[in-house]
Amino acid sequence: MNKTVEGILKQDDYTRDDLITLMKIDNQEDLNRLFKKAYEIKAKYVGRKVYYRGLIEISNKCIKNCKYCGIRRDNTHVERFDMTRDEVLEAAKWIYEHNYGSLALQSGERQDEEFVSYIEDLLREIKRLSNGKLGITLSLGEQSYETYKRWFDAGGHRYLLRIETTNEKLFKKLHPQDNHHTYEVRKRCLEDLRDIGYQVGTGVMIGLPGQSEEDLVDDIIFYKNMKIDMIGMGPYILHHETPLGQEWKEKVISEEKRVELGLKMIAITRLYLKNVNIAATTALQGLDPKGREKGLLAGANILMPTATAQQHKNKYLLYDNKPGIEDSVEQCQQSMDEKVLSIGDKIMYGEWGDSPFFKSKKSK
Ligand code: SAH
Ligand code: SF4
Repeated sequence: MNKTVEGILKQDDYTRDDLITLMKIDNQEDLNRLFKKAYEIKAKYVGRKVYYRGLIEISNKCIKNCKYCGIRRDNTHVERFDMTRDEVLEAAKWIYEHNYGSLALQSGERQDEEFVSYIEDLLREIKRLSNGKLGITLSLGEQSYETYKRWFDAGGHRYLLRIETTNEKLFKKLHPQDNHHTYEVRKRCLEDLRDIGYQVGTGVMIGLPGQSEEDLVDDIIFYKNMKIDMIGMGPYILHHETPLGQEWKEKVISEEKRVELGLKMIAITRLYLKNVNIAATTALQGLDPKGREKGLLAGANILMPTATAQQHKNKYLLYDNKPGIEDSVEQCQQSMDEKVLSIGDKIMYGEWGDSPFFKSKKSK
């Protein structure tokens, strides 16, 4: 006999089939049950607490050509920028002075020595200006083991690298087949990061044409098998100047459906992994003005307000209609504070907010 959603939600552990049943929920009543349970698990394992990571998008120059991304190398319509050292440090200082526990540096991918040592220097400076108090997450793409190690030694201690999808056939469709975009390398990078001692984050894009509910469940099982500490995932959004943005215009499921799937992914990941950090991402808000609050209510506990220099914000566009590019950092913070408080979560200013899962592994 098929299990009911209600029955599955009473369990403590779940089979792959259970997770698929949850991912295929198609009525509001069960959906509410799922989100309610996920929020309870969040409250129990990580608390009704939200941590901020100030996000600094330091450059849109990229050597990669991912077929979904607006700043891919071959998009010649992008005005390329680098935030200067002073601009990055000023943003870092703002984040520190406003008592966010951590910041995240993100950019297009570059592997040249000039870039690697620039990041190394920034990490040391950020550590210095915050008296070692700011947590630092990096999201700078695929690098060699040596580069990851240099950045770790300079002060980076968390790294976000999305696997994008664990359906390898779909992964191939998302990327050019030129030996520079392989699933094996991306997975190996996650293993290298773990090996070096980083808290490792990954995630996927949700609602891609050709991506099934089973695929999404397998993504969540991948997080568990890879002992991932932090999850950052969000709906796929078209970018009009990309190959897939054009090819998929008619094929992609509705924005509402992508938001719903995105929230299901957060909730089911929370149920299955329990004590990891999960972000409610900008992309979720890009498709739904209430996306972030909904994400927190479905089990997320991390928000990443942008602190990119104002004059560059409108050039770091991975997808169309990115929200918040006109807002100042102050406006971003205020609107975010209001959102968090409105649902009854507490904002944990001044704390790193490491995932309890990472801490539990360390103490073993
Ligand atoms: N270059 C680095 C970090 C910046 S891109 C990297 O690729 O890891 C960060 C993330 O943005 C990617 O992992 C991808 O999941 C997401 N992204 C890119 N284009 C997107 C789109 N069109 N819709 C939704 N997410 C997108
Ligand atoms: Fe570059 Fe990252 Fe965009 Fe790929 S997803 S093109 S690596 S910025």
